[in-house]
Amino acid sequence: MNYPIDDAEELIANAEEEFPPAMRSRLIAKLRMGMHIDDAARDLGLTSQRVFAAARILSAFGDQLDATLTDQRDPSIPHGTVTGYNRRCRCPRCRAALNQRI
Ligand SMILES: [Zn+2]
Repeated sequence: MNYPIDDAEELIANAEEEFPPAMRSRLIAKLRMGMHIDDAARDLGLTSQRVFAAARILSAFGDQLDATLTDQRDPSIPHGTVTGYNRRCRCPRCRAALNQRI
């Protein structure tokens, strides 16, 4: 019996290929050094939009990315608000605040 190609598996395979583990490690290392995700992604020839898209598909990486962004966020910014997002914070709560507003 033939099964159709599993879309989720194909998405994961594509994300793995475009954004392999070594590149993910380099991105996380840059974030831990205090680099902004836009700059860290650009250094790797990516955009932060691409990184977040991959993070949604590669859930273990997504968790690691969110934990790192939370660790590195500026405590003086009001998180979970659009203000935080506008001040370039990309922690999970500021991203969620933006998504709720749209
Ligand atoms: Zn934030």
